[in-house]
Amino acid sequence: ERSRLQERAEALSTQAGLPAETPDGRSVDLSVNIESIYDFSTFDISHTDGVGLLRTEFLYMERKQFPSEEEQYRLYRRVFENMGDLPVTLRTLDIGGDKQLPYFTMPKELNPALGWRGIRVTLQWKDLLRVQLRAALRASAHGKLKLMLPMITTLDEVLEVQEMIRELRAQLQEQGYEVAENVPVGVMIEVPAAVFALPQIIQEVDFVSVGTNDLVQYLLAADRDNPFVGNLYDPHQPAVIEALSYVARIARAEGKPCSVCGEMAGEHMNALLLIGMGYDGLSVAPNFISEVKYAIRRTPTQASEEIFQEVALERSGDGVRRVLQEASGRLMQITAAERIGKEPSPGQIPGDGNGQ
Ligand code: PEP
Ligand code: MG
Repeated sequence: ERSRLQERAEALSTQAGLPAETPDGRSVDLSVNIESIYDFSTFDISHTDGVGLLRTEFLYMERKQFPSEEEQYRLYRRVFENMGDLPVTLRTLDIGGDKQLPYFTMPKELNPALGWRGIRVTLQWKDLLRVQLRAALRASAHGKLKLMLPMITTLDEVLEVQEMIRELRAQLQEQGYEVAENVPVGVMIEVPAAVFALPQIIQEVDFVSVGTNDLVQYLLAADRDNPFVGNLYDPHQPAVIEALSYVARIARAEGKPCSVCGEMAGEHMNALLLIGMGYDGLSVAPNFISEVKYAIRRTPTQASEEIFQEVALERSGDGVRRVLQEASGRLMQITAAERIGKEPSPGQIPGDGNGQ
C-alpha cells in the first residue's frame, strides 16, 4: 500500500505544473480557495490558474476590530503581488451564520443560516462594504482583481452593489487613486432563489461561481454543520445535480464563465462530473489541486459528459455515488495501464459505460 501511495504521489507531482487540460484540449480553469494568508505557503502558485475564492473573513477574524481600508488595501496588494499575473477572486465579507467575528456581536437569531449573513449584512451596514470595496479597487492597480458577492438572493442586491462599485470607482479616481479598468463582478450561487433567478442575474454579471457548501444546505434544508441531518446534507442528491446542471446550462447559454468553488469540486470524480455538466472552472482547497488536475488531464470531455449523462438518470444519492465509483474504477485502470506502460483501451476511459 505504501509503495502504491508513493507511486501515486510521484505521478501527481510530475504533472502538477502542467495545464489543467483534458486530453482533447479543453482547458479547465483550476483555481485555488484561500482562507488565510498562510495558505500561500502550502502550494505552488504556478500550478494553479489563480485564486478562485479569497475568503476575506480571515482578515476580519484575525483582528480585534474591523480592519481599516489601509490595512485591507495592504493585505490585498500583498495577495495580488504574490499571484503575479493570475486573477484573484475576492469575495466580499461573508459573516453571519457559521462565520462569526469575535468583536461583532450578531443579533440572536432563531435561524442564523436563514438570517443576517453575507451580502445581507454588508448591504445594511454599507460602510463595511464600502471600506472593503475601496481597499480592493485600490489594490486592483497591482494585480488582476475579480469581485465576487456571497449569499446573493435577488437581482436587486446585485444591482445595488454594482451601483456602489461605480460610485466608489469614480470617487477613488477623483481622489487620485489608480483603479484597474476592468474589474469583473460575479456572484456566488448559494441560495436556491438565485438558481431560479439566474436567467436575469446572469445578464448583469461577468461570471458565476456555485458555492455548493451552502447551496446543498439550502436546497435540501439541511444545516451544513448539524450532524443530525448529516445524511441529508448530500451533494449527490438528484435535486442538487439538477440545480447544478441548470446553472451551468444557463451560464453557458449566455456565454458567461461558470465555476464551482464549494468543497465538492475538490473531489476528483465530482470534478469530472461538474466538467461533464459544462462547468469551465473549479476552485479547490490547495491540497486537492494536483489530484483534480490529474483526473482532468486523463479524462476526455466526452467521458465526463457520459458520467454526467449516467448520473442524471439516477434517482438517489447512492445511485449517483455508484456511477461515480464505477467511473473512478475505470480511471484507476488507466493509471494502472500507464504504470505498466501500455495504452488503455478505449473501453477503459471513465464514463464509457461499456468498459469494465
Ligand atoms: C460555499 O458555500 O460553497 C462556499 C464556497 O462558501 P463558504 O464555504 O465560505 O460558505
Ligand atoms: Mg457559502
